Amino acid sequence: MTKNTQQMLIDFHCHLDLYSDYESVLERTEMAQIYTLTMTTTPRAWKRNFALTHTKKYIRAALGLHPQVVDKCFEELSLWKHYLCETRYVGEVGLDASQRYYKSFDKQKYIFRNILEHCAAEGGKILSVHSTKCASTVLDMIEQYYQTDNGTIVLHWFSGNKYDMQRALSLGCYFSINSEMVKSNNGRNIISKLPLTHILTETDGPFVKINGKSVEPTDIPSIINSISQIKKENYDIIKSNIHRNFLAILE
Ligand code: MN
Repeated sequence: MTKNTQQMLIDFHCHLDLYSDYESVLERTEMAQIYTLTMTTTPRAWKRNFALTHTKKYIRAALGLHPQVVDKCFEELSLWKHYLCETRYVGEVGLDASQRYYKSFDKQKYIFRNILEHCAAEGGKILSVHSTKCASTVLDMIEQYYQTDNGTIVLHWFSGNKYDMQRALSLGCYFSINSEMVKSNNGRNIISKLPLTHILTETDGPFVKINGKSVEPTDIPSIINSISQIKKENYDIIKSNIHRNFLAILE
């Protein structure tokens, strides 16, 4: 086996349980040997997601409480705490300050603070964090409530500015890049400045679509291709850096 074939593809943030044909997407992902972290949006979905993934070699489920459903699922925080000892992967969690969800922002902060504090206390957790329109608040909270070196924060679909990006890097955060980021001007600007040592790839499927079709883990090569164009770096170099970062996080 050459070195190249050992560089695996990574989808560090998607929602495999939410595809209408989830069984075939799971099967294709496993067959293609793409290391995939699938989110749960509510703790209530954890058992099903765990059941769908725990026998797979390449797919793992993360335990989350999505900021966009905090208003409806606030009471599920206790369930999230109950399941936390069953996994090292946490997501999707974080904050969303966009207009539609801002009314629950105080509740979101309460939940996210609890999640950060519990993850820091248990140690060794790997978090996939949402930060739409509030990157600086998310970073404030990470700084304040996630006081540990024992664990990793991955900022998913980051849309903050370059100062937020620098601050996140100084806090040790990684960034998982998707096909929407490579399309937007701010996303391209951020990607061009991110060090190769702190990038990962994600699809955020089925929410993210390309030409009307939900992106899935097998589409990761096209995202690597876009990153390689933005960073003017060889495809294999981008791919191997992402694989190395993935291994470093899992260490
Ligand atoms: Mn997501």
